[in-house]
Amino acid sequence: MNNIFVYCEVKDDGSIADVSLELCSKARHLADTLGVDVNAIVIGSDLNGLEESLYNHGVNMVFRVDDKRFAVYQTLPHFAVVTKILESEKPYAVLFGATNNGRDIDEEGNLMQIRPAFGGNIIATIISPDVRPQMATVREGVMKKEMCARQSNCSVVDINADDYVSESDFVVEIIERHLEERNIDIKGASIIVSGGYGMKSKENFQLLHELAGLLGGEVGATRAAVDAGFAESARQVGQTGVTVRPKVYIACGISGAVQHRAGMEQSALIISINTDANAPINSIADYVIVGDAVDVVGKMIKYLKNK
Ligand code: FAD
Repeated sequence: MNNIFVYCEVKDDGSIADVSLELCSKARHLADTLGVDVNAIVIGSDLNGLEESLYNHGVNMVFRVDDKRFAVYQTLPHFAVVTKILESEKPYAVLFGATNNGRDIDEEGNLMQIRPAFGGNIIATIISPDVRPQMATVREGVMKKEMCARQSNCSVVDINADDYVSESDFVVEIIERHLEERNIDIKGASIIVSGGYGMKSKENFQLLHELAGLLGGEVGATRAAVDAGFAESARQVGQTGVTVRPKVYIACGISGAVQHRAGMEQSALIISINTDANAPINSIADYVIVGDAVDVVGKMIKYLKNK
């Protein structure tokens, strides 16, 4: 059986993107089950040393294109390089960081992916039994980034870009780049106090910020809360937001739609505060407090302040 490939993105600070390391860790598990290797494709400039973090996340072999012309991502030359590597190596499966959730393999060794269909109202399982390579794209945070034991055959294959690209692939000229810092990042928070439409206003959401501050956590939100202007979109948890797995997730006034649960159901402990004892979120919660979220959160704040 052929190997599993992971397309690894290089960030502006020169390190490998978290989503790529998460995929390498997942690919390692899949490869161990299938008895194959994990190979990474890395394209960029000044890449020396990056292979170490890939080896530590389960990669056997790194296909590296290190060329000044790749300092800034451009689709055409990346496409040319990736396609040619995949055509010559004929992998079993290829994983890319993006939006859908590649998950597991079935008993025949087929990659089983899950993805939302019909506007997110059903979750479809996709299996490709006949065509190789199988391809899956996975959002950041969906897979766990794990340190893996180093493989015995770790190595780098340096590829000369000129063998893979032509001048016409560099038809786009980058004149200026403006990078905006991401100042809200709830992905790594170990406690998340998350609010839904049931919080009713932006002012009430301030209570969630206060509670999160006291607990040393971050504030999350549902899409309904973001759409209502209660919270910034970077705080949205779920299928079209961020995937989180904190130690504690406190869901305040959140119904628990499937699209929201997709982004938080792997939290270690879930506490739901809802006026509706039958809200769907309660079925996955470890603790349920039936009551008005503003009231309950207010009491929690008072208690923590007194402590
Ligand atoms: P509601 O469903 O309106 O629930 C409000 C809850 O608050 C209810 O359970 C109610 O009982 C409770 N409540 C009311 N008053 C109080 C009170 N005073 N105290 C306590 N509880 C109270 N949603 C996401 O969150 N993330 C996503 O990434 C996402 N992606 C989507 C993608 C697609 C393609 C689609 C179609 C939808 C997506 N959604 C997403 C939207 C999702 O389907 C739900 O509409 C949304 O999650 C509902 O948010 P909510 O729970 O805040 O609001």
